[in-house]
Amino acid sequence: MNVTPEKIVSAPSATPAGEVKPKNKNAGRNRGFSEQRERRAEHARKRPADSRRTRSGGGPRSAPHTEPFVPLPTDFAPSAFDDLGLATPIRAAIAAAGYTTPTAVQARAVPEAIAGRDLLVSSQTGSGKTAAFMLPALQLLSQADTENGRGPRVLVLTPTRELAMQVTQAAETYGRGLRRIKTISIVGGMPYPVQNRLLKMGVDILVATPGRLLDQMNSGRIDLSRLQLLVLDEADRMLDMGFKDDLDAITAKIPKTRQTLLFSATIEPGIARLAAAMLRDPVRIAVDTAQTRHVNIQQRLHLADDLGHKQRLLEHVLRDVELQQAIVFTSTKRSADELAQDLHLRGHAAAALHGDMKQGARNRTLQALRRGGLRVLVATDVAARGIDVQGISHVINFDLPLQAEDYVHRIGRTGRAGRNGTAISFAGAREHHLIRSIERFTTQTIEVAVIPGLEPKARSFSGKPSAGRPSNGRAGKPSFKPGQPRKRHGPDAGQSPARRPRRP
Ligand code: AMP
Repeated sequence: MNVTPEKIVSAPSATPAGEVKPKNKNAGRNRGFSEQRERRAEHARKRPADSRRTRSGGGPRSAPHTEPFVPLPTDFAPSAFDDLGLATPIRAAIAAAGYTTPTAVQARAVPEAIAGRDLLVSSQTGSGKTAAFMLPALQLLSQADTENGRGPRVLVLTPTRELAMQVTQAAETYGRGLRRIKTISIVGGMPYPVQNRLLKMGVDILVATPGRLLDQMNSGRIDLSRLQLLVLDEADRMLDMGFKDDLDAITAKIPKTRQTLLFSATIEPGIARLAAAMLRDPVRIAVDTAQTRHVNIQQRLHLADDLGHKQRLLEHVLRDVELQQAIVFTSTKRSADELAQDLHLRGHAAAALHGDMKQGARNRTLQALRRGGLRVLVATDVAARGIDVQGISHVINFDLPLQAEDYVHRIGRTGRAGRNGTAISFAGAREHHLIRSIERFTTQTIEVAVIPGLEPKARSFSGKPSAGRPSNGRAGKPSFKPGQPRKRHGPDAGQSPARRPRRP
């Protein structure tokens, strides 16, 4: 495929799904069941005409849109998992997980992936994207492979170890009804001898971070010759973390006949170039936008004078009885450690999570969070994506993220699986540019709030008196008193690092 960012458009098709020809060996294999074909044809008939797509790129296409990416109607979705073309044991596992209705991204992506198409999907964490690629992967594995070998038939690449663990868990959850499906994860920080042993045992689904996978490939321990499906999860994050060369090196060594599913929060030019190099005639699916995200998350902002003020604000927020569990984001590993230690000494069930910790310690911390033994996780952006713990009622940006996109990922750790959540940010008066860029990105205004007794001494961003509404509905006065001199801010107000950490 040769697609430039400008060419990435929604491509409606008049071709009925029943006329489609397999385009690779996976496609043929995946479409082995006439039952599935019928379901897909039925599914395609139910779709709005403008969302149908060509199979081979040769069918009629609409005129290109000027927008590089066109969100599909989110109100259309097959009403049940039964309509997606999944094998009975997979449907049973989904029901056992308590899911009744496919999310928009699942409704759009699963049938297309089962049909063997490459996908370019713009979707956020929290949208159900993991199942959107894992269900078709399991569907593929529910059918016997014609090739012999012990190497994986499905490879999922993720940017972080945490996300890899979550994907591995999802494979086990949705695949529990299928016999003999072996999933392993190969991530950095894990001892090589353990990984070597796992790889010797044979694997169906390999979930990996790019750097360690490439190491293992280079030492000849992974046979990727029978790979049928490659998934790039959170591809934008992988590019941000500098994995582009690793991705290129990996894809150069895997079969060209594979099917590829690329998931990314946003489709920026870098992702469009990656898609052009890796995908063949992909179906483009966008079910979410920055504007529609996180409607169930209440967002507010507190102006903070300095580090001490932030700590007092945090203490107040943590005493809120509504707060079940919280992730507090800091900009550096060191401040995560220090703040976690400080909270611990003050009696909070708190711990740090960041990229300098050993994998075992990270796993134990996440396990404690999942089990509810930990109420406050103080983390760097390593936790901004991938952590899916439904008890997280609050996300607190102790330090603001430097990238607006990271803000969206951070606050997405709360309000999981349809619950409500609260996202609170602390900002120094000199950080208004960061707030503005977040507001521009999300096209939402973040309301400034004040906590009585903890009002900021500083004026508001606008230079006018800070007149935020009282937090938690309690009465409070604007912090600015006429005639009060404008205070200088200490060096720790804002706490922004000089540059964004590469691997948090
Ligand atoms: P993800 O976007 O993959 O991180 O998924 C977000 C959360 O939604 C996870 O807790 C999933 O278990 C949950 N989830 C995924 N699909 C569904 C569904 N169809 N119905 C209900 N919950 C779902």
